[in-house]
Formats: sequence, structure tokens, C-alpha cells
Amino acid sequence: MANYDWIVIGGGITGAALSYELARQGGSVLLLEKEALPPSATRYSYGGLAHWAGKTPLLKALGEEGIHRYRTLSEELEADIHFRELDLLLPIAPGYSVENVEADLADCRIPPQRISVETACELEPLLNPLALEGVLWARHGHIHPWLTTLAFQKAFQRLGGSLLLQTVTGLRRQGQQITGVETPTGCYGAAQVVVCAGGWTRALLRQAGIWAPIYFTHAESLELEPAEVRLRTIVMSAPVQRLELERQAGHPDRDPLWDKPGQEICPPILDVGILQFLDGSLRLGQISRALTDPQAEVDAAASEAQIRSQAERYLPAVAHLPGRWRHCLVAFSSDHHPLVGSLPGWEGLQLFSGFSNPLAIVPALARRFAQQAYGQADEWLPSLSPARFAGSSAAAPLPQG
Ligand SMILES: Cc1cc2nc3c(=O)[nH]c(=O)nc-3n(C[C@H](O)[C@H](O)[C@H](O)COP(=O)(O)OP(=O)(O)OC[C@H]3O[C@@H](n4cnc5c(N)ncnc54)[C@H](O)[C@@H]3O)c2cc1C
Repeated sequence: MANYDWIVIGGGITGAALSYELARQGGSVLLLEKEALPPSATRYSYGGLAHWAGKTPLLKALGEEGIHRYRTLSEELEADIHFRELDLLLPIAPGYSVENVEADLADCRIPPQRISVETACELEPLLNPLALEGVLWARHGHIHPWLTTLAFQKAFQRLGGSLLLQTVTGLRRQGQQITGVETPTGCYGAAQVVVCAGGWTRALLRQAGIWAPIYFTHAESLELEPAEVRLRTIVMSAPVQRLELERQAGHPDRDPLWDKPGQEICPPILDVGILQFLDGSLRLGQISRALTDPQAEVDAAASEAQIRSQAERYLPAVAHLPGRWRHCLVAFSSDHHPLVGSLPGWEGLQLFSGFSNPLAIVPALARRFAQQAYGQADEWLPSLSPARFAGSSAAAPLPQG
């Protein structure tokens, strides 16, 4: 059986960045990803870098560090990740007041500013002024998330890391120690296994009899074909209702429900998001559902109609361009902070997952994780350890049946 210092499960943005950083420190690393072009959260992501949005000292520090890192990341990875900085317009969603949303965002690292409808329409001439009751503005970062992930994967391989397209079907354990992983074609051993499987993380852990306070939403969005229309900004309705859904669905009282199939933990939400990539393709979104079954079926046609009709309010010129419905799972934790580090009670097993708005901070955090693993103490990482939830239901039994 091949043995590594590290096995990283999942080749999305979290696993790719982490593998690269661990290999940079000199570790022997195996990255296992189940598909070359997975229907994953990273692949269908908008690519927004909300470096301004953190509200806690930790998220503020990582946001600042993160945006500095992105400014030179294409050079570092020797690949164009389409990084740019541009205007983000936050029209206030119906039923909310601009004063309340502005007040709620006032403690962000860089609070968004209120702008007039006229200014918003100068920044984005395709906006429908009649739909705008109030607009906030922030300077946002943007990348192509999939190109960035591929860039990390390739840089990792140049450092000598191994990437295999195989599905991890189980964790190998001896007592309370994880010693490696199983795939359909073999077993691989490692001193440390890090789970970066996004929305699949909970199911993978539960299958091995391990509990962690990590959950997932079913996210639906539309991927529109490259079009001649040109958006100058990113448009996202405010407030972000997904955060409230995550707060409710991740409440400790609801944790036992997540082990029961066929549950919908709370009602779905739709946050309008509209943006264009540099190749002209667009994304419209996003519906989030807290369904406990990772394979749950949703009505794609109904969701597509709903997303298009909400996007039409703000940007009628793009809402009906041809495109395809996309679906993926997105991991989250119950306190809007990721789960990074060892699981209490387990040896050889770590998590690097459960991010709510990860893109801005993942590269910076992955570097810190790897540096700490190779002996450099970190001021922030201890507070992100899954041990912060120890005692909630850390000893939750495996579901029966
Ligand atoms: C529509 C949409 C828009 C978004 N916009 C933004 C945004 O603007 N800014 C932002 O910061 N975030 C955004 N997000 C969230 C962000 O994209 C995700 O949180 C992030 O990409 C998750 O990365 P990940 O690596 O944790 O998970 P994933 O990208 O899901 O990667 C997990 C990988 O693990 C693999 N895997 C799973 N199980 C196994 C297994 N058993 N064996 C091997 N491989 C396995 C999967 O194939 C997958 O490739 C958005 C998400 C969506 C859906």
C-alpha cells in the first residue's frame, strides 16, 4: 500500500489550494478527486471574493490577507486565474429596508456604501431603475473559480504532488485513528487524511461513524452561454438570505434531523446573483435548499423559471439568455466559520471545509494550515478547530437503518 504524509480528499478550491500548500512545505501529498469535471460548488460558483465582508477579527484579517494574495496569485501559480477588482451592486431585496441592511453590514471589514439609483445605473447601464428601492456598493474581487482550482492542481503536481481521479469510498481506521482511505481500485495510507469534500463531507464522515457539525445546502443556478451583452458590475441582492438559512439549518437542535433522509430542515431561499465571466458566459442564481438527502431530486424547470423571473427584475437584458440549470452541494458550518483542523477524539483525521464564503480566504488559510502543520504556530487556526463544537453532540451515534 502506498503511503503518504497527507491524503487530501476532494479537488475543489479547498482541496486543491491545501494540497498545493502542503506540497510547498515538502510533504508527500496524494489528492483524490472523484471526477475530472465535477458538478461541484467550486465549478458552479460565481467566483466572487468578498474580502470586505468579514465581521469577526479573524475573518477581517483573513479577508485582507486574502485579497493581497490574489493580486499576485496568477504569477505564483503560473496560470491566468482571471483575477480582477470591480464594482459590486447590492440592490435591496423586496421586503427589506436599505437602512436595516446598511446597519447590518456596518461592522464589515469595509462596509458597503449607499449609492443613489442614478449612480447605480451609471455603473451598470443595464440595470432596471424601476426595480431599485435602494442600492449599496462595494469594491469586490473576482476570479474564475474553476481556472483557479485547475491552476492550484497543476502547481501542486509541478511540486511533485500526486493527483488521482478516484472516489474515496471509505476511511481506513484502527480504533480511533484514521490510517488512510479506500477507493474502488485500492487503498492508500497516510499519516494525516484531510477531508475537503465540500457538501459530501458529512456523508463521508458519517459512513465511517464519525460526527462533525458540518451541513450542506443544495444550490441551484443557471450557467448562461457566452453572450455579446456586457455587464460592468456584479449584481447581488441584499441581504444574503442564505446566511440566515444556514444559521437556522445548522442550529444544534436540528443536528439530529440531518441524519434522517428525506427531511427539509427549513424553507428554501432565493438570493439573486448575476455576473459575467471574462469569456462572456454568465451565472444567474441562486436557490439554496436544506434537504438532508445529498441525492434529493429538485424540480429543475420550476427552479429555472423562478431564477429567471427574479433576475429579470434587475437585469431584463440577460435574464432570458440561453443556458443550463446547474445543481451542486455547498458545505457550511453552524457559525459561518470554517471547520479547520483535527476532529476531537480522532487521530490522523483533519477537516478543511464548511466555509460559507470561502473564495476570498481559502488560499490564505491553506497557507497558514500548511505552515502550522510544519511547525509554525498560527494565531487564528486554533479558533477554527472543530473542537470549538466539542460537547454539542460530538458523540452523536450513527443513524440507524
Ligand atoms: C451558485 C454558487 C455561487 C457561489 N458564489 C460564491 C462566491 O461568489 N464567492 C464565494 O466565496 N463562494 C461562492 N460560492 C460557494 C463556494 O463556491 C463553495 O463554498 C466552494 O467552492 C466550496 O469548495 P470546496 O472545495 O469546499 O467544495 P467543492 O467545490 O464541492 O469540492 C469538493 C470536491 O470533492 C469531491 N469529492 C466529494 N466526495 C468525494 C469522494 N468521496 N472522493 C473523492 N472526491 C470527492 C467532489 O467531486 C468535489 O470536486 C458559491 C456557490 C454556488 C453554488
